[in-house]
Amino acid sequence: MNDNGNTNQAKEIICIVCPNGCRISCTKAADGIHCSGQKCKRGEAYATAELTHPMRTLTTSVRTIFPDSPVVSVRTAGEIDKSKLMDVSKALGKVLVKTRIHTGDVVAENICGTGVNVICTSDRLMHQQ
Ligand code: SF4
Repeated sequence: MNDNGNTNQAKEIICIVCPNGCRISCTKAADGIHCSGQKCKRGEAYATAELTHPMRTLTTSVRTIFPDSPVVSVRTAGEIDKSKLMDVSKALGKVLVKTRIHTGDVVAENICGTGVNVICTSDRLMHQQ
């Protein structure tokens, strides 16, 4: 701990909330996370979330039974905890789509207990037969 009561060195986070891409310097202190360099409050909220519970949307593909389209693209319908990305990827590796689904159809509900569904992001299966 330094003279300011800070417990860690500053960490730089680039805000991706808007195209400005502010470089935000964050320092963890006993009373919370201190941020500087952001041009608005959204940047502070983003940086704090990145340091405390980072979330991500996963985009990938899953296998199908259809020879004309052996894989179809999917994504999580919302953000999931970054620490769950590997578990979700592994779970989706076991998914086999057996019907001709289209964009928005749910491929897996509440994937890995995240509370988030995985949805199809393509009409590819509808256009080929
Ligand atoms: S801090 Fe505000 S202005 Fe800067 S990139 Fe983030 S959202 Fe945009």
